[in-house]
Amino acid sequence: MSAPVVIIGTGLAGYNLAREFRKLDSETPLLLITADDGRSYSKPMLSTGFGKNKDADGLSMAEPGAMAEQLKAEVRTHTRISGIDAGHKRLWIGEEAVPYRDLILAWGAETVRVPIEGDGAELVFPINDLEGYARFRAAATGKRRVLVLGAGLIGCEFANDLILGGYEVQLVAPCEQVMPMLLHPAAAAAVQAGLEGIGAKFHLGPVLTRLEKVVDGLEAHLSDGQIIPCDVVVSAIGLRPRIDLAAAAGVQINRGVMVDRYLKTSHANIYALGDCAEVDGLNLLYVMPLMSCARALAQTLTGNPTAVSYGPMPITVKTPVCPLVVSPPPRGSEGVWSVEGQGADVKALCHGADGQLLGYALTGGAVMEKLALNKQLPPLLA
Ligand SMILES: Cc1cc2nc3c(=O)[nH]c(=O)nc-3n(C[C@H](O)[C@H](O)[C@H](O)COP(=O)(O)OP(=O)(O)OC[C@H]3O[C@@H](n4cnc5c(N)ncnc54)[C@H](O)[C@@H]3O)c2cc1C
Repeated sequence: MSAPVVIIGTGLAGYNLAREFRKLDSETPLLLITADDGRSYSKPMLSTGFGKNKDADGLSMAEPGAMAEQLKAEVRTHTRISGIDAGHKRLWIGEEAVPYRDLILAWGAETVRVPIEGDGAELVFPINDLEGYARFRAAATGKRRVLVLGAGLIGCEFANDLILGGYEVQLVAPCEQVMPMLLHPAAAAAVQAGLEGIGAKFHLGPVLTRLEKVVDGLEAHLSDGQIIPCDVVVSAIGLRPRIDLAAAAGVQINRGVMVDRYLKTSHANIYALGDCAEVDGLNLLYVMPLMSCARALAQTLTGNPTAVSYGPMPITVKTPVCPLVVSPPPRGSEGVWSVEGQGADVKALCHGADGQLLGYALTGGAVMEKLALNKQLPPLLA
């Protein structure tokens, strides 16, 4: 039998690529390998689970066996690849060598961890997959007070969701505003005020240094001397593309695994997409880009080389207390921001010197304008 097309990872990137591939080729052997349990789920739902009262099983959409049948593929679960031998077109799972025709890296990004002192450190939970979500839910059951580390997009989404789920939430982050990488300060202020309105308490500036168990829960010691009582901690301080195995195989890396517009790495027959991939210099950790990549790469893998292009890719942030849509200006672009509205309804627009709309941040009622504004935005990858 000929060597299979091998996809590493069964997140949205891996499974969507497999689906697109099967639309075009029903015969070529297809093998998906994943370190997790291989259940199909939509990762964005991880930050809406408490409000919707859904546990990990409730968020799972299909078991790996059903996915294997649907995709006419083999799905190997709880299997971590340990190396790539690009010269011989094979990969390693411990001592086992697995040959490939084409290898696709869809192995995602890992949560950034910072060292935390104290005996409560095991009660810090990153949530970046279904299993992490299940662990956190188990730890939070019967508890009341959650401390969220990070006030970026994911931290704010978790805060809103946990409050909807009945928890008391405090956030700690070493920044001056929420979502500093993404948002104009006026929009950030609207989101923060919305979350404060439903009870969130922000500690912007300090970091968590020590977490101690006490009789009735935990004490979180912050770098500015504050001590916050809590029961459990969610870590949402960032994601870093997985690159180590690619680097060890000699594949070119930067922030992510570097690929061209054909999703091809520096090595023949090795491709990458999803959170781990840096596509023509862009490492976008969102669903829309990986869907475009999956469609283009399926074409390329079935003999029709197709370059990926990205249109505007606005991000809808799941903070229902203050609806938010944001489209950051493209990398390297220079523009001037103008802000209309006030309070919860902010319309912040970024224009270039030639009058071209480059990006926006819309909150509250202003999100109604997103469709009209999207038509004016430049594509991210033309
Ligand atoms: C809480 C949360 C909310 C989000 N909300 C949104 C949203 O509203 N909108 C949006 O656009 N984006 C959102 N995102 C981002 C979006 O979900 C991700 O961009 C997307 O799911 C990434 O998919 P992926 O397949 O690249 O990676 P992952 O889903 O991380 O999949 C990686 C896969 O690789 C496997 N793997 C890793 N290493 C190995 C190895 N060595 N061997 C074998 N397998 C391995 C893993 O087991 C896993 O199956 C959110 C992310 C989070 C965490």
